[in-house]
Amino acid sequence: MNNIIFFGPPGAGKGTQAKIISEYLKISHLSTGDILRKKLLEKDQLANELNEIMSSGNLVSDDILNSIVSSRLQNETKKGFILDGYPRTLKQSEFLNNFLSNNSNKINYIFNIQINFDILKDRIVKRSSEESREDDNLNVIETRYKEYLNSTQKVSDYYKDRLSNIFYEIDGSLQIQEITQKIIKILKKS
Ligand code: AMP
Repeated sequence: MNNIIFFGPPGAGKGTQAKIISEYLKISHLSTGDILRKKLLEKDQLANELNEIMSSGNLVSDDILNSIVSSRLQNETKKGFILDGYPRTLKQSEFLNNFLSNNSNKINYIFNIQINFDILKDRIVKRSSEESREDDNLNVIETRYKEYLNSTQKVSDYYKDRLSNIFYEIDGSLQIQEITQKIIKILKKS
């Protein structure tokens, strides 16, 4: 079974790799950021609230994220899935652990893509002009990076301690293809 989590700061390339690897393995790519951005297009009350939170670089509530992920995973647990952007808080990881164990399922691989903040800044600014994402500007990057350091890094550290046998550190400063090759090599080996 291929149930995979990608961790890494915003701009590390986890979305790009998650997409490539999901196509390679023919499994679902669940990007919570993409799901939320789609929701913003509905322009209702919830979309307005989400827009305010996301465009400032803060995290959306655990309840909203947990309900999005559990409803999507309901259909994927037999085929395998890639989680990209979730879990981002310890509460979300607790929820995910319970959800998976209630469904007799588990995570098989965790890839933590690491990269330093200066490279990140350049990448995010470039992405902002290509994808016109409101949360990809220099003012917001620092908030998003702080959210990563304060919340999400604790989650990846928690998995690193608890599941060191399936936890793989990946150098995010390499070229996209090189990173993909490293990940595929790990998937083939184990
Ligand atoms: P991303 O595309 O993964 O960088 O996500 C874009 C934005 O969506 C984040 O900055 C958060 O505001 C929100 N978001 C995505 N995933 C989560 C999550 N698991 N928990 C809380 N907020 C999230």
